Amino acid sequence: MRYLIAFITIFLSHTIFATTIGLYSNKLESQGNDERRRLQIVGKERNHAPVAPNRLSIVAAENFYGQLAKEIGGNNINVSSIISNPNADPHLFAITSSTSKQIHNAQIIIYNGANYDGWMDQILKSQQNLIVINVASLMQLNKPNINPHIWYKPDTMPTLALYLTNLFVHMDSQHAIQYKQNLAIFLAENKQVQTKISALKAKYACVAVTATEPVFNYMTDAIGLQMQGLDFQWKIMNDTEPSPKMLSGYLDLLNEHKVRLLFYNSQVTDGTTKNILAIAKKNNIPVVGINETMPPNILVNAWLINQLNQTEIALQMGILEQIGAPMKQRVKPPINYRQ
Ligand SMILES: [Zn+2]
Repeated sequence: MRYLIAFITIFLSHTIFATTIGLYSNKLESQGNDERRRLQIVGKERNHAPVAPNRLSIVAAENFYGQLAKEIGGNNINVSSIISNPNADPHLFAITSSTSKQIHNAQIIIYNGANYDGWMDQILKSQQNLIVINVASLMQLNKPNINPHIWYKPDTMPTLALYLTNLFVHMDSQHAIQYKQNLAIFLAENKQVQTKISALKAKYACVAVTATEPVFNYMTDAIGLQMQGLDFQWKIMNDTEPSPKMLSGYLDLLNEHKVRLLFYNSQVTDGTTKNILAIAKKNNIPVVGINETMPPNILVNAWLINQLNQTEIALQMGILEQIGAPMKQRVKPPINYRQ
């Protein structure tokens, strides 16, 4: 009977997810490239049942890890996320007294590590009896000068999902079945992310692209795209000034059509980024905005697929641009999302 319930739950959730993605694709086709509207279409919270007492209490430094914990823990856990504003630059985050209080009341802490949220190391020094998950350490990526945007590495979220499931089962065995069911749902949805990455790789491996910052680079590496202008991207990420030579080399990528697509950090729209976007536009190079922080009301896998879908559209447009396709074709690329 338990297995039957588990099967039905997985089936229903999968259907909801597929429908959500389907709806999203239909809307996308009719709405064009309005990124903000796209991101609002997909969200769906999975759990609406009443909350159980004595829940495990979790604080995530970043909201995509908090959302993952919610998807695995369901109503048996209490999650709050510290960085959750999709309109602010997380690299410039500063702690407040309420941040320390929030952490003090938690049982489990999840944070990125890899120097992305160094403020967390400071807070944790004064805390005891906390279970701390440093995601970079979990992924064996806690090395100096590593690209900190490790949540876009395709195996990070599934690995953390499994880790959290085992932890929740250990700490709250009473709800073990539910945690395991939620993991199965998450992994089934995540297969769609992995399938999308493989499909893009089969079509677009070795295409040259660039970015204003190295936010999506683990994902573009997985697709096999050739990322250009890395030294410049790191300067922008660290809020440091690129040398004139570095800047002119970077702008040549766009002006001389050496790349087919530009990724930009949708949360950092300073003068330099705006300038680069304008130059890309002038040269008809498609752009894709990538979030550092997750927008509200969306599941982790849907969020990742959204951004991969946007990448797919832009790559198609970039390739059509390269072979000199007429403007009409560029405006509405022929894409079937339900392949
Ligand atoms: Zn960043």
